[in-house]
Amino acid sequence: MPNAALTALREEYKNCQRCPILVKNRTQVVFGEGNPKAKIVFIGEAPGANEDREGIPFCGASGKIVNELLASVSLSREDIFITNTIMCRPQDNRNPTTEEVQNCSDRLDQLLAIMQPEVIVTIGNFATERILKKKGITTLRGKVFSTTIGKQTVNVVPIIHPASYLYSGRNPALYKKMQEDFQTIAQTCKERSIQRRLVA
Ligand code: URA
Repeated sequence: MPNAALTALREEYKNCQRCPILVKNRTQVVFGEGNPKAKIVFIGEAPGANEDREGIPFCGASGKIVNELLASVSLSREDIFITNTIMCRPQDNRNPTTEEVQNCSDRLDQLLAIMQPEVIVTIGNFATERILKKKGITTLRGKVFSTTIGKQTVNVVPIIHPASYLYSGRNPALYKKMQEDFQTIAQTCKERSIQRRLVA
């Protein structure tokens, strides 16, 4: 069953004009994709070139790695909802500015309020800082944090951004850490009795 509030939020932001530079260069707003009933929400940094073109988060090289790691713990994109800290592609894949993260903040807060996830996976530094207000993905990764969103206690698991792994020339040691972090995600879901494929 579609999530009407989520559809309305997508509609509200599809022509967002809050960041003039991003608006000028984007092809489209990349709102988010996945199971509208998911209790696991993944948050990345910002759309890249593929995502900007297709309108789907993590549909390029980084997305392939996310899919692979999900499969390694018997999860798939159908079990999760995935979005980004900001919805529009920064030109040349530069980092989002503080102002851009702030401008996209209401939208992400509203999305989380609607979805009420039990587990949030923050991919890389920007999403981790946005949700946990903590810096340093190398020390935070793979740990399970607790935060409150609305009335819900949410477990937050920061993970290494797959782009870092790609930039490393596919360092196997980094991949092993990512595999471990996905085991932690699966274990956290198990502890919270999150069932897979909550599509009604
Ligand atoms: N990197 C991100 O952080 N988000 C995407 O959607 C794609 C790559």
